[in-house]
Amino acid sequence: MFVDIAGIHLKAGKGGDGAVSFHREKYVAAGGPDGGDGGRGGNIVFKVDDNLSTLADFRYKRKYAAEAGQNGGASRCTGKSAKDLVISVPRGTLVKETSTGRIIADISDDEPVIIAKGGKGGWGNMHFATSTRQVPRFANDGLPGEELDVTLELKLLADVGLIGFPNVGKSTLVSVVSQAKPKIANYHFTTLTPVLGVVAMGEGSSFVMADIPGLIEGAGEGLGLGHEFLRHVERCRLLLHVIDVSGSEGRDPLEDFEKINHELSVFSSELSERPQIVVGNKCDLVEEEDIEKLREHFEARGYKFFPIMAAIAEGTRELIDYVAAELAKLPPIKVYEPDYIPEPVVTDKKDNRSFKISVRGGVYYIEEADWLLDVMNRVDPDDYESLQYFERTLRSSGIIKALVDAGITEGDTVKIYDVEFDYVP
Ligand code: GDP
Ligand code: MG
Repeated sequence: MFVDIAGIHLKAGKGGDGAVSFHREKYVAAGGPDGGDGGRGGNIVFKVDDNLSTLADFRYKRKYAAEAGQNGGASRCTGKSAKDLVISVPRGTLVKETSTGRIIADISDDEPVIIAKGGKGGWGNMHFATSTRQVPRFANDGLPGEELDVTLELKLLADVGLIGFPNVGKSTLVSVVSQAKPKIANYHFTTLTPVLGVVAMGEGSSFVMADIPGLIEGAGEGLGLGHEFLRHVERCRLLLHVIDVSGSEGRDPLEDFEKINHELSVFSSELSERPQIVVGNKCDLVEEEDIEKLREHFEARGYKFFPIMAAIAEGTRELIDYVAAELAKLPPIKVYEPDYIPEPVVTDKKDNRSFKISVRGGVYYIEEADWLLDVMNRVDPDDYESLQYFERTLRSSGIIKALVDAGITEGDTVKIYDVEFDYVP
């Protein structure tokens, strides 16, 4: 199993600001406050897209921000809420909070998931008229959207696995047909971790090719790194068996071919029956007739044979066109059982509801209480139950008691971040 990882930064949209406005009509003097609320900032939502198979796109774009909600307007006009920013990911992507490693969501089914919530819009001044304050000249600013760093993690399966002895040109092949940049060198075991390349076929279709390192004699018995890598190949739908037709380094390509297949069958009989295409590389080093002999040899044994020169990408187009067509006929990748247990997300931060109260100019400020921003984001000022919930939170967290201890009396102003209200015991 390959693990594809990408770290990105998310910033949900800020809520629109509430408006300060007073009703105006011809011949009507001093109308009441009618400033509307700001709209909600855009959420950042994750959703499965089955056309994607890797997190490669996230290597190039790391910052994602949703739009802010529109500000409120006059005449009780509520600002428009911003559109959600939808981020498409391959099925099975885990979204983890980078700072803690905690799993926030497992994007495996078709239900979109909100990962960063947009900020609530601020209240317009229409909400702030009280019996003692009929001309509220203020409104609330919208709340900031949630902002966080997440790590995306995808347990990835390759459609196509490259097998073959070291130095035959596997890494070179991946590098010319995909964006992947494996190390290429004229010595053995240059590739120590599998490298995946997404081979784009145009029109949004693609397949994943894996350059699997160092398949060597004895691999089937667990010699060296071999065993682990065979496990990687196990789920590939199709194998490209690369041979060096020139037989450089005193190798015999036909003998190598048998040896590798022997290792596969020792490891798993199922694996040895996986469809294989033979890729004869380094054709620049041999005569045309030698290539034809090899072709006859493999075709007689029921294999498709593709002569290529990986280093100059000669013959590779025909090869990948054929591979893509074959993949379309093969059953999909075996679905793996998730091997992780998603931990429950802790949303109840009861243990850590700290805050600080300070009094300045007769106003009671509740500060250093970021957890309250979460709560306020969820409160709907027009909904009675919602406000009750807010009040209960203020009570259960000890804020009301602390305000009383600090000497608050009826009608005093309480300010929590951008939200301001009158204290009513
Ligand atoms: P791997 O060990 O199978 O991944 O092999 P590499 O891709 O690292 O290639 C091994 C060597 O073969 C490198 O020096 C490549 O430059 C060389 N090579 C790759 N393709 C060709 C080719 O088409 N012709 C020739 N002459 N050399 C090649
Ligand atoms: Mg290599």
